[in-house]
Amino acid sequence: MAAFSKLFAEQIGPKTCQTLGIHQESCLNHCLKDIPLYLLSNFKYFAPICLLPMLIHFRSINKAKLRQTLKYYAECAVIGGGVGYSVDVLICTLRYLLGHFGYYSSFYCPTVIGGCLYNLASNKTRTLFETSIFQCNIETFLLRRRNFVSRLIADSKYLQTYIFMICSALILQGKYLYNLKGFWFLEPNPKVPEVENSEHSKCQLHPKMSCQHHLVHGMRNYFLLGFTLDIIKALMSRVNVAKDQSKFLAKIKNFRIRSMALLTAYIGIYRFTHCYLNRKYPHMKNLNHIISAFLSGFCYNLYPQSNIFSYALLRIPFARILFPFGLANMVHNVCLRPEYCSPLTFAITCGVTNDYPHVIKHEVQLIKQKIQREI
Ligand SMILES: [Zn+2]
Ligand SMILES: [Zn+2]
Repeated sequence: MAAFSKLFAEQIGPKTCQTLGIHQESCLNHCLKDIPLYLLSNFKYFAPICLLPMLIHFRSINKAKLRQTLKYYAECAVIGGGVGYSVDVLICTLRYLLGHFGYYSSFYCPTVIGGCLYNLASNKTRTLFETSIFQCNIETFLLRRRNFVSRLIADSKYLQTYIFMICSALILQGKYLYNLKGFWFLEPNPKVPEVENSEHSKCQLHPKMSCQHHLVHGMRNYFLLGFTLDIIKALMSRVNVAKDQSKFLAKIKNFRIRSMALLTAYIGIYRFTHCYLNRKYPHMKNLNHIISAFLSGFCYNLYPQSNIFSYALLRIPFARILFPFGLANMVHNVCLRPEYCSPLTFAITCGVTNDYPHVIKHEVQLIKQKIQREI
């Protein structure tokens, strides 16, 4: 680490934006030219994130919902573009003011300042930004394995499953009891009032259908949702195309059953145990729900994905203060320590900053090879 920052100061520090290859033209020209590129990159990046839920619920879409979704999409892209663009401008400005690229002043400080712009967004957009940034930071924390706790969690899929089960119970219970907003993989069952002296055991969760129907209906819906997500993931993945192969076919071959298995198992265990417990112990509605939300979290073991795990850990109340630092940490790591970044971190950073990190990564790679040769 010390050797790396020392070499960074020697090799990258004295360079200019042009000699480093960040841009060829003058800084002013570069900054003026890049505004539309940043907007375009953000509109492209946020399209599946913001518009996909509308496609999934396309049967219930109306004019008001459509307008709301498009407004949300535009807001995400404009704020994302604003953050990315101001970081870009600040990188040039700080280089100009300080006369060199510093280890922290080249990416970390510009991103902390630029990241504050996200405060201009609405609550919904801010939540989306916070969620993705903290998720990436938790993933980096696990990948770096710097201390005992991160090593223990990163190495044990069973411990991750157990923590995921606790998060699942806490989050679903919060949504069930207090109707908490915010995205979670499952929508909880509707709340049923506690009953005393119930003589015959009945589930009461779904008055219009049988338990079996309720279970099959949920599993079918989440199966389709997971299937759509898996197809989109495959289509968005980067593939190496052989000469005589089409890009589309190569992407289709990349299709993996991931979200589909996870979501179907999650809803399946959740609804099955909840109905079963409600019939067996009709007077303990709250406890029944906690137990089923906890047990259904076991589905994580089917396909342990670090991004899902990190998302589950995300219950940080002081997110607004931490956001610029979380974002800065992410950009700093993507540029200087890419081995500690997950694919999600790369996708977000490159989407928001118009592929900026790719430019710097090459130079950093050269320094690292030099360090290795010296060792
Ligand atoms: Zn510049
Ligand atoms: Zn039932």
